[in-house]
Amino acid sequence: MIPYGKQSVNQKDIDAVVRVLKSDFITQGPIVPEFEKHVACFCCAKYAVAVNSGTSALHIACLALDVTPGDIVWTSPVTFVASSNCALFCGASIDFVDIDPKTFNISVPALKAKLVEANMKNCLPKVVIPVHLTGQSCEMNEIGKLAAKYGFRIIEDASHALGSTFQNSPVGSCEYSDITVLSFHPVKLITTGEGGMAMTNSKELARKMSLYRSHGITREPDEMTKKPDGPWYYQQIALGYNYRMTDIQAALGLSQLDRLNQFVAKRQEIAYFYYEQLKDLPLILPYQIDNQKSAFHLFVIQLKLGEIKKTHRQVFEELRNQGIGVNLHYMPVHTQPYYQSLGFTDNDFPCAMQYYRTSISLPIFPDLSSQDMNTVVRTLKSILQ
Ligand SMILES: *Cc1c(COP(=O)(O)O)cnc(C)c1O
Repeated sequence: MIPYGKQSVNQKDIDAVVRVLKSDFITQGPIVPEFEKHVACFCCAKYAVAVNSGTSALHIACLALDVTPGDIVWTSPVTFVASSNCALFCGASIDFVDIDPKTFNISVPALKAKLVEANMKNCLPKVVIPVHLTGQSCEMNEIGKLAAKYGFRIIEDASHALGSTFQNSPVGSCEYSDITVLSFHPVKLITTGEGGMAMTNSKELARKMSLYRSHGITREPDEMTKKPDGPWYYQQIALGYNYRMTDIQAALGLSQLDRLNQFVAKRQEIAYFYYEQLKDLPLILPYQIDNQKSAFHLFVIQLKLGEIKKTHRQVFEELRNQGIGVNLHYMPVHTQPYYQSLGFTDNDFPCAMQYYRTSISLPIFPDLSSQDMNTVVRTLKSILQ
């Protein structure tokens, strides 16, 4: 089976990990801060806090923005469940804004309309979490303007978008947001096995996120309620977690970061091969807005079901049966039983449902061979024609 995504690990990555295993520190050593520094630099952000997953990064981002019970958080229904679960971890309530059917990202007009209504009803969100689905940036300038007008904070879920740009700035620069979150799961742009990072330009938010990453414990005398009793002394000043990344993971990430530009170039090459080869099929190919460049974490095609004699499920199953490990990103979050138990129903977000009924993610990852790229195209053609 040709998978839809896969990590690319070379000998240099392995050597970097082995070096850490043979060193004095396998966690909380010097490599995590070095990895943070390099990712922050790549993204043009001032601060970065590495954690053990993208999900943890979303959680500490919400905590740092003081998301608490009684608060409201909005995100897109077409995302991985972690983008909305993070609000629920904090006891806040969650709501969704339907997607733009062209970009699959949160719809700015729908967001505007929902804000006007929420403003009248006095139930504005404290935080909005735009998700850069597939790697294509949301229209952050527009969302930033709305944040200024309605007073909400922004966490960008950039799990798909390390290496993407918006208006020629790297995603992660936090130009229009408070915090940007990355994931280093093996299918993502670079990997640390499991891992994530939260970036910000605010020293205070970075400080809070570091605190929540490690039990709420500080060793900074300035942050303590009294003078240290001795050199052993630390204080727990908030309720935090153990969300730390290990130096083993950071070494892998740091080594992978060297090849990020190569990885993105290869993904874009595959995407443009698909655009060219699939243009005459009864498909909608990914629409790209002008002022951004996608790192193409995913390549999502949509079936023009009116022009095909097969169902979405049939096409999907035939691809899988013929060795193409296609996937579907994502089942809309509001259709999950847990979310339906909170009161959501399938029909709440029609564009998300339309997306769900027609979309398929094709294989795209740096080590995908040209032979496999051709197999994907040939198989898809034979199924659709
Ligand atoms: C992968 C992913 C996450 C969660 O990241 P983990 O590192 O797996 O915890 C969150 N949001 C989106 C959009 C993702 O794709």
